[in-house]
Amino acid sequence: MPQVLLFEGAEGVGRQRLALWMGQLLLCEQKDAEPCSKCRPCRLVMELGHADLHWIVPILRPKVTDADKQVDEAADLIGEIVAERRKTPLYGALDGMASHPLATVRLIQRRAALKSVEGGPTVFIIGHAERLVPQESSQEAANALLKLLEEPPANTWFILTATDAGRLLPTIRSRVVPVRLGRLTDAEVRDFLAAELKPGLSAAALEERVRTAEGSIGSAVSASDAGAKAHAAAADLVDVALQGSVPRAERVLKQSPWAARGDFSAMLEALEQTLGDAVRAASGMTPRRALPAALKGPRPVSRLLEAQRHVTAAREAAQGNVNPQLLVGVLAEDLAAALNRVSGER
Ligand SMILES: [Zn+2]
Repeated sequence: MPQVLLFEGAEGVGRQRLALWMGQLLLCEQKDAEPCSKCRPCRLVMELGHADLHWIVPILRPKVTDADKQVDEAADLIGEIVAERRKTPLYGALDGMASHPLATVRLIQRRAALKSVEGGPTVFIIGHAERLVPQESSQEAANALLKLLEEPPANTWFILTATDAGRLLPTIRSRVVPVRLGRLTDAEVRDFLAAELKPGLSAAALEERVRTAEGSIGSAVSASDAGAKAHAAAADLVDVALQGSVPRAERVLKQSPWAARGDFSAMLEALEQTLGDAVRAASGMTPRRALPAALKGPRPVSRLLEAQRHVTAAREAAQGNVNPQLLVGVLAEDLAAALNRVSGER
């Protein structure tokens, strides 16, 4: 097996789940085609407690300034998230502001330099590797990781996951062996939800959930009141953006400049999906969800795609240190320019 792998696929199709399975396979005492799930290493991996399996997840930037203490803080933050996932294996979407800061890469370097605790292989799973973004000090982080991926230490595996290899730094992309994971079938999503979701859903709610999940168990699991709230907020933003400059300005002032980053990025994601639905409708397909009133009516696909590109850019900016209020201001103007040229307003 290649020592450096990339599992790429849509959000929520099981990239990290498969990476954990692969780690378990590498660490299992029975060298078989599948992990036995009975030996001690297997059990430790399944409890997310194996000392030689390092699940590296994006975190919010460490607060301390001392470089060594930052690495310790990164280790603690990652440990907390993994502990949370141990308790709640069906975890929700990642915080839009979380990333792999330089401290995390130093942590990986530090751990990769040590001998494995159990004397066997060492496995690193680096989730959301696209969050190694080239900005501020992260360029340095990406380069440091690159060195490690070029020449992995003996008996050490790196499994990266990302939505799309195209979003990785080219230097990292060229070092990984990509494995593409497809979306699941509606039947697979339905079976999973029926078996795992507690409390269960009514038949109608289950079908609705399966339809909007688009083959992603992750989005089916995290679809909830919060998802509905994010879509309502996205519809509201489109509506206000198309009403004119005064409502736009009011909306910007309403946007809190500091609070609820997670809500903010969920709204942007919902907005991207909403525009995707509008593209579907404009192309004669059935949208996954009902369109907000402001997006009903004929509009060229090219304009909808342009609006969607603005939202994608805003989502990427939101992962950096950008003020959400500023971002909403720019985005509302861009949406108005892309979608509203017919109305005659400035
Ligand atoms: Zn085993």
